[in-house]
Amino acid sequence: MARQRTIEHEKSVEGVGLHSGERVRLTLKPAGEGAGLRFRRVDISDRDNEIPAHALCVSTTQLGTNLTNAAGVSIATVEHLLAACAGMGLDNSVIEVDGPEVPILNGSSLPFCQMIDAAKLVEQSSLRRLLKILKPVEIVDGPKRVRLIPGEGFKVQVKIDFSTRVIGKQDIEVDMTDGAFLREIAYARTFGFSHEVEKLRSMGLVRGGSLDNAIVIDGDDVLNPDGLQTPDEFVRHKLLDVIGDLCLAGGPIEGRYEGDQPGHALNNRLLRAVFADPETHEWVEDEDEALSAPA
Ligand SMILES: [Zn+2]
Repeated sequence: MARQRTIEHEKSVEGVGLHSGERVRLTLKPAGEGAGLRFRRVDISDRDNEIPAHALCVSTTQLGTNLTNAAGVSIATVEHLLAACAGMGLDNSVIEVDGPEVPILNGSSLPFCQMIDAAKLVEQSSLRRLLKILKPVEIVDGPKRVRLIPGEGFKVQVKIDFSTRVIGKQDIEVDMTDGAFLREIAYARTFGFSHEVEKLRSMGLVRGGSLDNAIVIDGDDVLNPDGLQTPDEFVRHKLLDVIGDLCLAGGPIEGRYEGDQPGHALNNRLLRAVFADPETHEWVEDEDEALSAPA
């Protein structure tokens, strides 16, 4: 039986937000069983400053997943940190931040995985609860399609198709139940296109973006001097984003996810569709000994 996990020690990191460009300090803290993952904006004290990491708190999904609580307090770009929590099997933690956005660090989940590892995962007494998918749920938007279907364990398939030759068509399928996140997905960095940077900056976005925290594509070239870590780093990052977005279910998923050109908006609509129909899912206790064991 797999038990819930928190961390033994708190751990902090500092960095800039990808969109805000603001310097932020983030601290992972232990939390009691059943607490889940919760953000706490320590720079705000005049109203409720806790924001649950839950799909129903997602407020906007433009170039990142952003959460807002009932008091109107927000935290932006949560997906790479939450992917690390899900991928490492961290169930319960209070995540303190002293600004409006999670730091982007190197654009991947690896620094967050290393933080969780250094904070030392510890088991709690209650069993984990899994969101078991009982019937298919699908969201389609033009050429984009995402779905969850019933299945053993947690398998994720992602396909992307970009016109630049650097990316082209990429396809990946990963069985997430054996520490695969840390080995195969966590390192993959976010990416963007140089021709979009000016427009995005004028909209107040990617102010903290640089070649140190994103792969930047110009036409058919990668501008980063060290290039790619693997040719399929792009589809691996899309899968990383999916893991982060699905972490907002509030517990690990038992089922299969398939995404054709997935994005944060569709992933959130998918979870909302699951929660809107009680016949699509049930919460069950985790009977799999090895689920998401850290490597
Ligand atoms: Zn991402």
